[in-house]
Amino acid sequence: MWSTLEKSASCEDAAAVLSKLLGVAEKQWPGLQDMMRGQLGSGASQAQCATCKKLFTGLSTLAPFQASKLSADNMRARRYVDNLVKGAAASREVAVKLGYNVGRQRWHRASEPEKDINAGGRPSVINKEAAIAAVRAALEDKSQPSSSLCKKGDDWVVAKTLTERPSRVYLAPDVCSSMSETSFRRLLQAHMVEYRRPRLLTDYCQHCYDLDRKVMVDVRKAIQHWREGLGNVMENYFQAWDAHCAATNLSLEEQAGLYLRDFEHYISKHDANKPCARHQNSAFPCGLFELRKRGSGFDQKRRHELHEQEAMAGHELRALYKLLLGYLHHREAKEVQHASIGALLHNPPLGTVVLLSDWKELETLPQCWQATGDQFFAQARHEVSIWGAELVEHSVQSTAEKPDLVRTQLIVLSTILDHTALRTNQLIRVALQRRQTARKMERLCIVSDCGPHYRSLESCAHHLVTLHQAHGCSVEVHFGCDPRFSKHFSLMLFGWVRQVLQRCKERREDLWEPDDMVKALQSGFAENKKSNPASPHVLCFRDQSPVPDNAVTLQVTKDLKISRSYCLSCEPSRLRSTPNIYDHVFSHKPVAIMVDYYLRDLGKTTESWRVGFWSKGRDAWDTQPQPLQPREETTLSRRYMAQKEYIPNMLARKRALLPDLGEHLRRREKRLARVRRSQKARQEALQKNLRELQSQDSSSDSDSSSGSSSSSSDS
Ligand SMILES: [Zn+2]
Ligand SMILES: [Zn+2]
Ligand SMILES: [Zn+2]
Repeated sequence: MWSTLEKSASCEDAAAVLSKLLGVAEKQWPGLQDMMRGQLGSGASQAQCATCKKLFTGLSTLAPFQASKLSADNMRARRYVDNLVKGAAASREVAVKLGYNVGRQRWHRASEPEKDINAGGRPSVINKEAAIAAVRAALEDKSQPSSSLCKKGDDWVVAKTLTERPSRVYLAPDVCSSMSETSFRRLLQAHMVEYRRPRLLTDYCQHCYDLDRKVMVDVRKAIQHWREGLGNVMENYFQAWDAHCAATNLSLEEQAGLYLRDFEHYISKHDANKPCARHQNSAFPCGLFELRKRGSGFDQKRRHELHEQEAMAGHELRALYKLLLGYLHHREAKEVQHASIGALLHNPPLGTVVLLSDWKELETLPQCWQATGDQFFAQARHEVSIWGAELVEHSVQSTAEKPDLVRTQLIVLSTILDHTALRTNQLIRVALQRRQTARKMERLCIVSDCGPHYRSLESCAHHLVTLHQAHGCSVEVHFGCDPRFSKHFSLMLFGWVRQVLQRCKERREDLWEPDDMVKALQSGFAENKKSNPASPHVLCFRDQSPVPDNAVTLQVTKDLKISRSYCLSCEPSRLRSTPNIYDHVFSHKPVAIMVDYYLRDLGKTTESWRVGFWSKGRDAWDTQPQPLQPREETTLSRRYMAQKEYIPNMLARKRALLPDLGEHLRRREKRLARVRRSQKARQEALQKNLRELQSQDSSSDSDSSSGSSSSSSDS
């Protein structure tokens, strides 16, 4: 075979013979040609390829890859380039020879471009599941749902109001033990944007706000003031007090009431020569006459001054204590009450139906994605009232051991603007018709905030007498302590309403009429349910019931003060047709005081509901001004007739009615000229670049051809 090849006249002839031979061999051993090509292509020949060299060197010296420490993004990009180079170059040595500087480790890693990049340093805690869960738990503990929205990623979510500053939330044991406060803050920013500090006062009950921001501030100030004042007169005045606080772990921040009471007591008994009856056998430093008596080392001339200061301090501290007690009681009552109501809603006793409801602020229509000034500001914007409720009931197969609860959320829209007890009670009756289970209702609990449309004798009469008689079951009424109570519980519902309406706006769907809003909400909730089957079952409908013919109210003796009770109930009476009513004060029912009452008929209290004006609806916005015939008038024309004397010479005044067209044109022309100028400049620059590139290319072409010719002559 070699002898044939030897006889070929030139290199080309020899190559032709060899390729023919390979073609024949391919028939015998398919794939042989590819194998040969691979062996020939590798190593030396590629290492001398000028194109590869230019390309690889260029990639290796890309500016973003030159930093001593690469960002995660750049790292990812370089990994990707490494991978491409690894695919193109025969081996790492070849790649290095071609100017792609890459180490053994990087070369090895280059085969997995998708694998996670470790940017170096300690792994960040803020994306760890466990850390996120710990922070979320701490935040849940210290927050309550609000009805406002915030943007999380691309989605609108219902915001939650923090009841503590983030620095306090950080102190939760699971959180502060697992990350630094800086990481905690960064984690909040990255994953927990929906937990926000209260922005509006309405997120906060007024009393609780006053306690935190006013009363406690005054208490701290007063204590500091008298500590300094009395300490100036007698240096060791508070020594025993501080020891007592340290020994009993008493602090103002944790037990404000107790601290203030004892602080006052300590001062008022400081000059007694023996402990008071209460403290006779206790460790409390009561009666420290020893410190000021003759021979104690205390300057006797200052005893009178000390006594005067003590009297003034006592006076101020007692007044503050009384104030503080009221607020502390409010907070305490709220916590106790909300715990009982929470338990009731979360797990009602078998046979009990719970209805929690509240009013949402009015929504206005139309809601258009492009609102004109008129739509925004005209009084003609119509109002829609929204009432929301949660109905909790046991299913038919539910048992005490294995409770199975059915929860239904209701959104009722109407143009009736009354938020009175009369209307609210009507809606409660409507809601009770929407029960989802056939199970017999043995007890009904009506839960609400303590606003005037709920906590009134009229409502109590309705729930405890009318509903009792209508459903033949015992009824309980529970009120939250805060006016903002319902926000603590399930009325995130209104947040969802906003979420759906916001989504409509973003999808450019216009809502003109109340029924549009009902439909939008229905489909919005259906969509939520579809994308997340765990999301709640929401019934949304419109109710325009007529004014009831009759209403009753309770006439009670003076000993029931409805504004001081958070829980009432009724049981059938054996003696009369109307039930017995009991006042329990709080929902955990510490007492049951029978209420002495009789029913008073109120008759028909109103002739008609207050209704948003709807006769025009959409027409009000679809304006098409028509020319006015001599007899036709519009509001504007009449206004003109009435007011024309006040603006004389209106017709003589020169003012373009539309934006001045000439000026408009001049501006457009100017802009056009500017655009043209910049385009021309860009074109020139491009052409210049192109010319430079072409000249470079031709020179490098000649370089490479000379290089290859020299190498071929060498071989
Ligand atoms: Zn090449
Ligand atoms: Zn409060
Ligand atoms: Zn005492």
